[in-house]
Amino acid sequence: MAKLHWIVFVIVGFILTFGSWRISMERFVLFFYAGFVFLLIGIVKLIYRSRSEESKRIESRTRPAHIPNKMPNKPMNPHIKYCQRCRAPSRINANFCSNCGNRV
Ligand SMILES: [Zn+2]
Repeated sequence: MAKLHWIVFVIVGFILTFGSWRISMERFVLFFYAGFVFLLIGIVKLIYRSRSEESKRIESRTRPAHIPNKMPNKPMNPHIKYCQRCRAPSRINANFCSNCGNRV
């Protein structure tokens, strides 16, 4: 999963999936599934990105509006990571939140 933005996969998948309706039925299945795979990759990347706190600031300008910003304008300490459930800061090498026990 390299540098390509998830929206690229979604767009390509969308074009392939729905564009395949204009092609003959023999190629339809191939293009349909190819587009479907692209759509899935894009969705997976979107979900992964929404959970990835570290890369949020990089993509913050292109983040869709319907995704809530969990930590607005909060300065990020590179040595501290925050629990995704209760927002409590914990050590970067800790596996579980010291406050609620959630995996961080
Ligand atoms: Zn927690």
